[in-house]
Amino acid sequence: MKDTLIKKIKDYKNIIIAKHVSPDWDTQGSAYGLKEIILDNFKNKNVYVVGEKLNLGLREESEDILTQEVITDSILITVDVANFERVDFLFKNIVKEVFKIDHHLEDDKFGQNKIVDSSAIACTQVITLWAYKNKLNISKKAASFLYYGLVTDSGRFLFDKTNGETFQAAMILSQTGIKITDIYSDLFLKKFELAKWHNQAFGMAKFLENNSIGIIKVEEKVFKKINLGDEEIKSALSVLGGIEEVKIWLMAYQTPGSDKIKISIRSRDFDINSVAKKYNGGGHKLASGANISSWKELDKLIDDLSSLIKLKGK
Ligand code: AMP
Repeated sequence: MKDTLIKKIKDYKNIIIAKHVSPDWDTQGSAYGLKEIILDNFKNKNVYVVGEKLNLGLREESEDILTQEVITDSILITVDVANFERVDFLFKNIVKEVFKIDHHLEDDKFGQNKIVDSSAIACTQVITLWAYKNKLNISKKAASFLYYGLVTDSGRFLFDKTNGETFQAAMILSQTGIKITDIYSDLFLKKFELAKWHNQAFGMAKFLENNSIGIIKVEEKVFKKINLGDEEIKSALSVLGGIEEVKIWLMAYQTPGSDKIKISIRSRDFDINSVAKKYNGGGHKLASGANISSWKELDKLIDDLSSLIKLKGK
């Protein structure tokens, strides 16, 4: 059977790739990895990656050169986004058609066509295996982008859902000659400031329900004092992972100037996604995000998480 995505890429001269808002490495790596694969394997294609750039707070340059004429004649490929609302492209409603590539649980069935594998740990895993299956050339440059997503979303091959296909994707990518140790240094060597923040964050953590829930609350005034970006602030959530007693851990943080409080929740075995969805959020069973509008609401969310633990204990 002919692969639908291959057919669609062949059909369109203009291809726009969009990520999710607040981009992470999986969406960024998916977008740029896919862009390289398209340019290397198909002739005469214009490929534009749009949206916010990872960690920079800037927009992709390609967005500026897109005219209405090009947009309405394009296919929009969304990567690593489950909900259309979170697709980071202002003109997403006027493209000719939408193709979704994702690995989240599918709540919002947008897109005329899609490749969704919710058993995959990373969207870059889905793209790598798709390219491999279709015998497309994956350059070293493309592989490097894709590997960043694979290694970050799998927590360095540690999280649940890391499986044979994850290692197959890692093998395919590493065989292109990418230097894995350089990628690890780039991603995981901490600046002194960040190491200090991780240490401070652990000190700020509160533990409830016999240490089964860990919470780091970063209020606006604390955020302002730390000279780090959103993703770096959020990275301190990892200090609560890997502690036997802590079953569910979260960070609630308020970016200066924003009236919303963002929540990142993680667990090794509780379906925290069901709670995230109640608070304008979503994501995966064991890694979800949410948005609340007051610190009071955080208490309710924590009560819901406690209920998950209590229910299991019954
Ligand atoms: P985060 O805690 O921000 O790292 O997000 C964890 C996972 O949940 C990622 O896969 C996000 O794409 C997803 N996610 C985060 N926030 C939301 C939201 N408000 N709605 C839907 N999915 C989300």
